[in-house]
Amino acid sequence: MQGNGAAGKSSRLAGKVALVTGAAGGLGRASAERLAAEGARIVVVDIDGDSARHVAESLPTEAIAVTADVSSESDVERYMAEAVAAFGRVDLFHLNAGIFGSFAALPDVTVEDFDRVCAVNVRGQFLGVRAAFRQFRRRRSVGHIVVTASIASLGGSADLLAYQTSKHGVVGLVRGAAVYGGPLGIRVNAVAPGIVPTELFGAAGSMVGGKSDMVRRASTTPLRRAGRPEEIAAVVAFLLSDDASYLTGQVVSADGGASWLNTLRPSSGAGAWDTATLDRALYGGDFTQGVQQ
Ligand code: NAD
Repeated sequence: MQGNGAAGKSSRLAGKVALVTGAAGGLGRASAERLAAEGARIVVVDIDGDSARHVAESLPTEAIAVTADVSSESDVERYMAEAVAAFGRVDLFHLNAGIFGSFAALPDVTVEDFDRVCAVNVRGQFLGVRAAFRQFRRRRSVGHIVVTASIASLGGSADLLAYQTSKHGVVGLVRGAAVYGGPLGIRVNAVAPGIVPTELFGAAGSMVGGKSDMVRRASTTPLRRAGRPEEIAAVVAFLLSDDASYLTGQVVSADGGASWLNTLRPSSGAGAWDTATLDRALYGGDFTQGVQQ
């Protein structure tokens, strides 16, 4: 597939080998598709082996699927070993697999839930970054890494405590790894998506904070809509490409502008569910375009 902006850049990653975790669905799948569309061979890593194989078979370039739990040290060593066995090396990493955990209120968050979320979202990212750096050192090669952070890396909300903690944690990982990798020419950045309807919201269904509710809330962002997986994948491809050659240690928000709203000002949409009324008040007769879909 050719995602947004992929046309005309289809050989930017030619000759590269890219590994994407959590690539059986959602943002990871879109990333695998975009990186393949730009010419990379792909290692599709996911705990859901059947879906990972399906994605690998659907890609336009050579690809393998590896069933692995990113929170397991031995699984991470195995996904690297299988990638190197198949392609000789890995140049680019999108360490993306992540889970929400429970929606329990803070006093009810269990240690088990907290530990599982942090195991996948922080330990899994750490193990992936470490495996990448070990491989670069062993091969005396240079490559680049993108970690999926979140709008939840940048601010707080009263729910998803473990998730927010974990997503703040990966920012530290990215910055430390970027400082270590800089002198070696290895760039490490994060993409911080806002609301992109995927199965991540599946468990929450139609409840408050679930998929349909979050899509509705995303209509109050400056871009007045939720994002699409391809729009996050385009940022990942940029960060992994030489077009981002002077960019490291950054957390790049792809959230329709949500993270920089002043949530207290009425003109920012605070409390405004009827954004059409807000837009008419802001732009008067000049507001003719409406919400872009
Ligand atoms: P998703 O649930 O659609 O996809 C996640 C994928 O990761 C699935 O294929 C799942 O099988 C896999 N996975 C889960 N646990 C795993 C494990 N232990 N080992 C290997 N694979 C595992 O979710 P998504 O929306 O695509 O989320 C991808 C990343 O983006 C996550 O890190 C998430 O926190 C982040 N994110 C998503 C949004 C959004 O709005 N969708 C916003 C901000 C951040």
